[in-house]
Amino acid sequence: MSHMNGYVQEASGQAKSHRERAVDCPGDESSLVKSPHSSAHMERIQHYQEELKKRREEDSRGKHDIDPNASLRLKKLSQNPKVGIDNPTFEGKEKVTKDAFLQDPVAELAELLQALKWAHHCLTDAQSQQDVELIMQLLAKEDFKNAYAIYIAVSQQMTSVIPTSPLTAQAEDLCQKVQKILQSSQHQEGLELNALLTNPHLQAHGSVAGQEIAEESLTQYIGETVKLVRLEKARDTPLGATVRNDMDSVLVSRVVKGGAAEKSGLLTEGDEILEINGTSIRGKHVNEVHDLLQQMQGTLTFLLIPSSQIKPAPHRQTVMHVRAYFDYDPSDDPFVPCRELGLSFQKGDILHVISQDDPNWWQAYRDGDEDNQPLAGLIPGKSFQQQRETLKKTITDRSPEHQGRLWYAKKNKRQKKKSTTTLSRNIDDDILTYEEMSLYHQPANRKRPIGLIGPTNSGHDELRRRLLSIEPEKFAVAVPHTTRTSRTHERNGREYHFVSRPGFETDLTAGKFIESGEYEKNLYGTSTDSARHVINSGRICMLCLHTRSLQVLRSSNLKPYVIFIAPPSQERLRSLLASDGKTPKPEELKEVIEKAREMEQNFGHFFDATIVNMDPDQAFHELRRLIDKLDTEPQWVPTSWLC
Ligand code: 5GP
Repeated sequence: MSHMNGYVQEASGQAKSHRERAVDCPGDESSLVKSPHSSAHMERIQHYQEELKKRREEDSRGKHDIDPNASLRLKKLSQNPKVGIDNPTFEGKEKVTKDAFLQDPVAELAELLQALKWAHHCLTDAQSQQDVELIMQLLAKEDFKNAYAIYIAVSQQMTSVIPTSPLTAQAEDLCQKVQKILQSSQHQEGLELNALLTNPHLQAHGSVAGQEIAEESLTQYIGETVKLVRLEKARDTPLGATVRNDMDSVLVSRVVKGGAAEKSGLLTEGDEILEINGTSIRGKHVNEVHDLLQQMQGTLTFLLIPSSQIKPAPHRQTVMHVRAYFDYDPSDDPFVPCRELGLSFQKGDILHVISQDDPNWWQAYRDGDEDNQPLAGLIPGKSFQQQRETLKKTITDRSPEHQGRLWYAKKNKRQKKKSTTTLSRNIDDDILTYEEMSLYHQPANRKRPIGLIGPTNSGHDELRRRLLSIEPEKFAVAVPHTTRTSRTHERNGREYHFVSRPGFETDLTAGKFIESGEYEKNLYGTSTDSARHVINSGRICMLCLHTRSLQVLRSSNLKPYVIFIAPPSQERLRSLLASDGKTPKPEELKEVIEKAREMEQNFGHFFDATIVNMDPDQAFHELRRLIDKLDTEPQWVPTSWLC
C-alpha cells in the first residue's frame, strides 16, 4: 500500500519492504476544488461508460472474453450488470420496480372480484353477504377502476425513481434562453410554459444541481457510476490516503483521519482509481503511483470507480486515550502497512486513538501533538501488538541463555512453583501494550497519595521529611506495621501498628502492604489500609515506594501520583552527599546512577512525573508545584481506577 497524495500499498505478493508506503501528495482541505465538468473529462467519463456498455453488450451476446488487463471491478460489473457499482441497494430497488411493473390493475381487480364472489357464495349470514355485495359493486364501477389504474401507475413511477445526481447544472441558463424565445409568443401554451419557467423551485433546483455536480462530478450509467473528484494539492499538507494494488487495479486502501481526503469525504476506501490528471493508473504498481503523485502539483483530478463494498453504518467514533507501555518506531517495523504514516512514541506516552476501524493498525495522535500534526498516525492495534510481543517473548524465553532461568526473580519456592505452572497461561496478561486512560481531577476532600520513588541516596526520603516537617497539617505518613515489640513511649496505632510475625506475613501474602522490609530480624511495612486512613482524614499521604510497590498500588484504589526522584550526574551527586557529611566511593555513586537508569527503563511507564534532584531546594519547589497541580489540573489515570 502506498500513500496517495498520499500513500501507496504494494500488492502483498510483491511487497519488497512493506505493504503500504507513503506517496506524499500534500493536499489542503480548504483548497478542495468543486468545479463543474470540463468537456475533456466528460469525454473520458464517456469513454469508461462506453467500455462498460460494450462489455455488457458483449456479455449478453456471450462473446465477452475476460481481458486479464481489465479492471477486476469492471469485470465483475460486466458479469453482473444489474448490480450498481456503488449502490448496494440497487438490486432491492430494482426488485420493487419489477414487482410494480408486473402489476396489471385490470387483471388484479378481476381476480379480486372473483375472490369476493367465492366469499359471497360461502357466506351464510345475510349481513355479511350484503357487505360483500357492496364491495363488489364498488370494484365494478368504472370510476374506481380508473382511480386504481392511476394509483398503480403513480406508485410504479415512484418506486422506479431512484434519486440520482441532477441531469444538468445548467437548468437556469436553459430557462433563460427558452424564456427569451417565448417573450414574443402569444400562444396560451407559450404563456403557460413561461409561467412555469419562472417558478422559484426550478431556480432552486438549478443552484442545488450546480453544487452537487461540482462536489462529486458523479456520472451515472444504468446503475453504475464513475466518479470524478478534484482536489487542489497544497505543498506541505498530506492528503492522507493510501492506495494498494489489487491485481492490476489501484484501489484507495486507507483514508487517514485529519487529512484532506478524509475531511472532504470524496475518496473512499475501496474506490478504484482509473486516472489521475488524465494519466491512466490501471496496471501501475503502487510505487509508480507514488512517484507520479509526488511530481504532481496543483489540481488533482481523480477518475474513480466508487467502492462496491457495503459500507458499515457509520458508528460513533469515540476517542480512546491510552498510555503506551512500549516504545514504537515505525521506521524499525517491517510490518507497518505505511511507514510514512507510522507514529513513533515512547513508553509512557499518552496517545489519543481516534480510529480502530482497522483492528491491526489504529489511527492516533500523541498527546500534545494534535494541534501541530493535522494527520493522524498509524500505531499497532492492541491485540496485534500483544501477539507480536508474545511471539517475541516466546522466542527469547526459548533462547539458550534464558533456558533454566525464571522469568521473574521469585522470593520463595512456593511462589516459584506456582509461577512456573501458570507462565504459559498468563503470558498475554503479563504483556502490557496499552492501558486505557481517563482524565481524573482529585476531589478537594480526597487527595491522591504522593508516592516518591528512586534509588537510595537520590534524596526522595529527605524531600518527604522536609514536606512533612513544614506542613504537618497538610501532609502525613501512613502509620507503619512492625513485628517488633513496642517501646515504653510508643503507643499502638500512633508510632506503629504492633503485630505478630504470622499476622504480618499473612497480610503480606494477601498483598496488603504497599512496601515492606526487614530490619534486625523484625518486619516493617506500610499497609494500604494505613494509607487509606490518611486519605480519609483529608491529608495528603506521603509514601516512599519500592518498585515492587507499584503493582500493589496500581491494584489498590488509592490512585497514587508517582514521582520519580532521579539522581543528578555522578559529580553533582558526590558533592550533594558530601554536604550531608557522606563520603560515598565512586562505584557507589555509579551504582546509584545505574540503579536509577534501570528503574526508569523497567518502570518508567508507571511514573507520573520525574524530578532530577540537582539541587535540594529546586527539587523541593518542583515537588510542591507538582503536588499543587493536582488541585488545579486533571491528570491521566488508568480508566480501571475510575470504575
Ligand atoms: P525502629 O524500629 O528503630 O523504629 O526502626 C527501624 C528501621 O525500620 C528504621 O530504619 C526505619 O526506617 C525502618 N522502618 C520504619 N518503618 C518502616 C516501614 O514502614 N517500612 C520499612 N521498610 N521500614 C521501616
